Amino acid sequence: MLDANVLVLNRLWQAVNICTARRAFSLLYTGQAQVIDVEEGKFSAFNFEDWKDLSAAFEKREEVVRTISFTIRIPKVILLLLYDKLPRSSIKFNRKNIHQRDKNICQYCGQKFDIAELNIDHIIPKVLGGKSVWTNVVCSCMNCNLHKGGRTPHQAGMKLIQAPKEPRWQYLAHFNIKTMHHESWRHFIDTAYWNTELESDEDK
Ligand SMILES: [Zn+2]
Repeated sequence: MLDANVLVLNRLWQAVNICTARRAFSLLYTGQAQVIDVEEGKFSAFNFEDWKDLSAAFEKREEVVRTISFTIRIPKVILLLLYDKLPRSSIKFNRKNIHQRDKNICQYCGQKFDIAELNIDHIIPKVLGGKSVWTNVVCSCMNCNLHKGGRTPHQAGMKLIQAPKEPRWQYLAHFNIKTMHHESWRHFIDTAYWNTELESDEDK
C-alpha cells in the first residue's frame, strides 16, 4: 500500500515525477508538499492535517493507510511547494530509447518498420563531426540509410519528417501506461505525450 504510485507536480503544476505513497506522506508531513485532490474537474489542495481530517470520512478502505492514531487516504497527486525545476535528463541515450522516441518510424520516409529493419542514423555523419546526441540521431530504414550513405541529409537531398528532440518526461517514459490508472493524473500529463505512449504500448 505504501508503495502505491503518486504523481508529483512542481510548483508550476507540471508533472515531474512519480513517487511512492511512503515518500509522498513524508513530503506532506514535513510541509514540503500538498495533496491535490481532483473531483469532477475541480482541484483542491490540502496540507497534511486537512488531508488527515478529510480522510476520516473516506469510505474506500483499500485506499487508506492506518496508523495507531489515525487513518489517512493515499493521495494520487501531490504538489511540491518548493521545487520548481524540471528534473535533469535521465533517460538513457541508447538504441532502445531512440526507437521508442521515433516510434520505429523511419525519420526520412515516414514509414513504420520492425526494429530489426531500422538503423540508428547520425544525421550529420560521425566522420563529418556529427555527435552521438539526441538531436543528431534518428531511426532510419535500410533503404533510406543506403541512399543517404555518408552524407548529410542536405547533401543527399533528403528531409527529416521532424527535427529530433531529446524526449520529455524522462522518468515517466519508462512507465507503463497501463499502470497509469488514475484518472486524475490525466489533467497534469501532456496530451501529446500521453498519446505517444499509448501508441508505443500497442506495438509491444
Ligand atoms: Zn526510410
